[in-house]
Amino acid sequence: MYDFPDVRGHFGPYGGVFVSETLMYALNELKETYAKYQHDPEFLAEFHSELKHFVGRPSPVYHAKRWSEMLGGAQIYLKREDLNHTGAHKINNVIGQAMLAKRMGKKRIIAETGAGQHGVATATICARFGLECVVYQGAVDVARQAQNVYRMKLLGATVVPVESGTKTLKDALNEAMRDWVTNVETTFYIIGTVAGPHPYPMMVRDFQSVIGEECKVQMPEMTGRQPDYVMACVGGGSNAMGIFYPYIDVPGVQLIGVEAAGHGLNTKEHSAALVAGTPGVLHGNRTYLLQDENGQIAETHSVSAGMDYPGVGPEHAWLKDSKRADYVAVTDDEALKAFHDCCRIEGIIPALESSHAIAYACKLAPTLPKDKTILVNLSGRGDKDMHTVAQESGLKF
Ligand SMILES: *Cc1c(COP(=O)(O)O)cnc(C)c1O
Repeated sequence: MYDFPDVRGHFGPYGGVFVSETLMYALNELKETYAKYQHDPEFLAEFHSELKHFVGRPSPVYHAKRWSEMLGGAQIYLKREDLNHTGAHKINNVIGQAMLAKRMGKKRIIAETGAGQHGVATATICARFGLECVVYQGAVDVARQAQNVYRMKLLGATVVPVESGTKTLKDALNEAMRDWVTNVETTFYIIGTVAGPHPYPMMVRDFQSVIGEECKVQMPEMTGRQPDYVMACVGGGSNAMGIFYPYIDVPGVQLIGVEAAGHGLNTKEHSAALVAGTPGVLHGNRTYLLQDENGQIAETHSVSAGMDYPGVGPEHAWLKDSKRADYVAVTDDEALKAFHDCCRIEGIIPALESSHAIAYACKLAPTLPKDKTILVNLSGRGDKDMHTVAQESGLKF
């Protein structure tokens, strides 16, 4: 049976805790709290009640029948995380962490955000639970994600533009860490993906695994069996771990993570840490990274802000090395084509992140027989991507 991470947070040679002494105290406190509530029936009942009544779970699985027929091969099924409150899978994890914060008596929440999706989810749950919320966001992202910045403000959060470095996600992460070191006593740091030091990668995976647990019930109801392939996009890797994890011990289910190849893997403008990176340490854990020979973190690119991160969660590094999952990458252009096809053929406007997973499903499907099934995690909806898509395509805003 798959049993990772170990007690010190290692997934094989990956994961762990690479942080300053000051943060060790906070991380140990968090580790103990999570261990106490992880299997607590009252905690889990409240978590699932929030997911049901506030998020709208379970999210449906949908057979993309017309598209599958047009592609002429395997049947494609979409797990509809786009239908969640706030429009993506991120809210699942945020609820779990905010519930831990309440139990630890921490009334101040901090978070980092890139495009703003995790910031909006965090601001949402802080409003719902009556917690103070401070969101760090790179100044460049604050400027290009005005709508999400405004949503966070409406929800009562303080958005702090970060002016250091490239003024994007990794700088926002550094600044959030700095705040946490200073305010450890009063503050809970809600990380938005399966990265960071232990116990975050494990904890975020556990909260997100509701996605795959639901699929394990829904797929047999719809098709009489489990899927042949389970596919998800990988930015930091949380929606992918959420749908993969419950399937790791199910034989015959192939797991495929799809990274952003941006302008192409032969250029430097991509975000494919697993496909094209090397092991190193970033943001408190050991994992695959995009870095140069001297360990300097590379600048990344993806048309989709949620995929634009130079690292990846350590559990994916382990699933790659142990060959339990395969990782591939699709380009901006391929993702954009899948985006438009999904709109026109299925009547669903997907997030650009999710469009990467869909794009690979559309490549694979025609090579397989019609009785094979591919389950794709549709991690979020595309409303936030309207301006990007309008810039990248002929159809003007
Ligand atoms: C943030 C985001 C992602 C990327 O994050 P993961 O941790 O890799 O899941 C993917 N899809 C959507 C819709 C997002 O908002």
